[in-house]
Amino acid sequence: MNKLTDKFRRVHDYLRISLTDKCNLQCLYCIPSQNQIEKFQHKNILTYEELTRLIHIFVKYFSVNKIRFTGGEPLVRKNILSFFEQVHEIKKSNHFEIGITTNGTLLEDKIESLHSFGMNRLNISLDSLQRNKFIAIAGKDLFDTTLRSINKALKFDFDKVKLNAVIIKNINDDELIHFIDQFHNTNLNIRFIEYMPFSGNGWDDAKFISWGEMKSIIETKYHLKEIESDGNVAKDFLVDGTNLKVSFISSISNHFCYSCNRLRITSSGKIKNCLFAQSEEINLKSMLADYSFGDELIAEMISNSLQNKWFKHPSTDELAKLNHNIMMSIGG
Ligand code: SF4
Repeated sequence: MNKLTDKFRRVHDYLRISLTDKCNLQCLYCIPSQNQIEKFQHKNILTYEELTRLIHIFVKYFSVNKIRFTGGEPLVRKNILSFFEQVHEIKKSNHFEIGITTNGTLLEDKIESLHSFGMNRLNISLDSLQRNKFIAIAGKDLFDTTLRSINKALKFDFDKVKLNAVIIKNINDDELIHFIDQFHNTNLNIRFIEYMPFSGNGWDDAKFISWGEMKSIIETKYHLKEIESDGNVAKDFLVDGTNLKVSFISSISNHFCYSCNRLRITSSGKIKNCLFAQSEEINLKSMLADYSFGDELIAEMISNSLQNKWFKHPSTDELAKLNHNIMMSIGG
């Protein structure tokens, strides 16, 4: 088995697969104004058969430890549970973890099934604990069901349940302490994520709040004890005297590209070797659908696509000018 290594010797053992570019919310930091969105037609999205072949290739040829499924919102896809059942079958004879990043609005009645299909990690997005603000950010009143999903997920023994909150100055930075108050009796991992510039997402330097500023606000009430990080993207802390873990994702103020281990596949089957990079023109979908292309050839294309990966993402000014990065279709 080979390691997926780029020219900076970074080993890529973490695969993120977007299952759809569609979402049932319209979060203001994620989705651009409607006229900028060109949704993929269903026929252009990787089928479940193509997706399972892709996963087989990754686990057969490369030492991939973790696969995360993202969107849009992955749970809007029809028959999604039967897909996860198939992934579970692959997982039984190969060693890798699976996770899903979801907005939690369609999760509540699927938690048992996801758990029984070997889902290891759930990342659930929730940007506000105030219903009115939730509606203002997400565009729909699905606050209660999201909160219920988080509380229900905490009752199962998933390896990790994380709450992701993108923090934007003067929008939800006044809620940092509320998040801790609300969950301080749980073993949730709350991750506060720096706002990032994506195409059409209203990026403005003035709305940016760094991880250091967030931490200082929380420390006006709680003591945060630094702990060893279990990954390479977050700065991790325990709220003293509790099991609540608080993490900060400092993609902008303190990037972690030097240790990047991530490779993304878009829902249409293109390789994206960085969150901010333009997708490769190679379309894996047509190859995955055509068994005259052998697995080995597809593995070689994937490996080659890493060789033009940049060392780190450009500055925020440059990122704000890129118009190929719609966060909604990348899945973070
Ligand atoms: S910005 Fe790109 S290179 Fe940097 S950590 Fe994220 S995916 Fe990796």
